[in-house]
Amino acid sequence: MMKFLSFGRLPLLMGHQLPPDLREIAILGGYRPLQSTPRQCLQSVFSPTNETINVWTHLIPSVYFIWKLVTFCYSLDVSTTPYTWAFVAYMVTACTYPFVSAMAHTFYVMSTFARKICFFLDYGALSFYSFGVGLLYRAYAFPETLLESKFCDVFLFVCLLNALMSTVIACSSRFFTSRILMKLFRLGAFSFPWIWDNIPLIYRLTYADRLQSVSEVHYMRQLVFSVLIGFLYTSHLPERLAPGKFDIVGHSHQLLHICGVLATTEQINGALYDLKVRREILQVSGKMVCSSWSVGAVVFLFFVNAGIIAMFTRYAWKSRNDKGESDKDR
Ligand SMILES: [Zn+2]
Repeated sequence: MMKFLSFGRLPLLMGHQLPPDLREIAILGGYRPLQSTPRQCLQSVFSPTNETINVWTHLIPSVYFIWKLVTFCYSLDVSTTPYTWAFVAYMVTACTYPFVSAMAHTFYVMSTFARKICFFLDYGALSFYSFGVGLLYRAYAFPETLLESKFCDVFLFVCLLNALMSTVIACSSRFFTSRILMKLFRLGAFSFPWIWDNIPLIYRLTYADRLQSVSEVHYMRQLVFSVLIGFLYTSHLPERLAPGKFDIVGHSHQLLHICGVLATTEQINGALYDLKVRREILQVSGKMVCSSWSVGAVVFLFFVNAGIIAMFTRYAWKSRNDKGESDKDR
C-alpha cells in the first residue's frame, strides 16, 4: 500500500494555472492536478496539498463518531429501548456527514463532473445531519415549557422540510455562474435549518428556569463553534490576511471542519447527559419521539435525498453533454 502511494511525486499547481472558478480565495498554491486519477487522489491524502488536511479533519472524526455510536449501542440495550433510537439515528447522520465530506474532498478533483457529484453528496449528507440535529433536540433537549406548544408539534415536520429544501438549494447553487450568489445560496441553504433546529435550544438556554448545567454548557459551546463556522465560511480568514501562507496548513476551510466537529462533539455530550436525566420529564409529558420519526423519517429522508442527488447528477451529466464539455477540457 505504501509503495503504491509513494510511487512518483504528485505534481502540484499554482492558482494562476487553474480556471478562475476553481481557485480558492487567498489560496495561492498546493492545488492538485485537474483530471487527477483515483490513484493521485489517494496519494494526495498522504502528501501535502491544499486539500490534505481537509480530508483528515473529517476522516478521523468520522471514525471517532462511529466508535462513539458503537460504544453507545453496546452500553445500552438499544434494540429494545425505543427511547434511545433518536440518538442512534442522530449518530448515524453525525457519522455520515464527515465521512462523505472526506471522500468528496479526496476525489472531487478527478473531473468537473466528479466535482459536482462529490459536492452534491456532501450537501445531501449535511442536510441529513441537519435533520438528525433537529431530531436529537426534539427527543432529548426540548424545553419543558415548549413541550405542549404547537411549535413542538410541527417542529420535526419543519426540520424535515428544511432538510429537503437545503439539499435542493445547495445542489442548485453548483450551477450558478456568480460566485457571490453561489455562496449566498449555500450559506442560506444550511443556516436556515441550523436556525430552526436551534430555536428550542436557544429558548431553553435563555428562559428555562430549571437548568441542567452540564448539558447546557455543552450546548452553549456548540452554539459558539457553530457561529465560528459561519464566520470562517464568509471571512476566509486567516488566509485573506496573508495569501499563500496558509495554503497547506491553517486555512479557513480546515478550521471550519474542526469547528464543525467540535460542535458535533459538544452536541453529543450534551444530548447524552439529557438522555440520562430527562427521561422522566419526557415520559410524563407524553411527548417522547415515536419511531415513525426516529426511524421512518430518517430512512425517508435518506432515500428522498438520494433521489434529489440522482436528479441533479442526471442534469449535470446532460448539461455537460449539451455544452459539448468533456473531462479533457479541464
Ligand atoms: Zn469541507
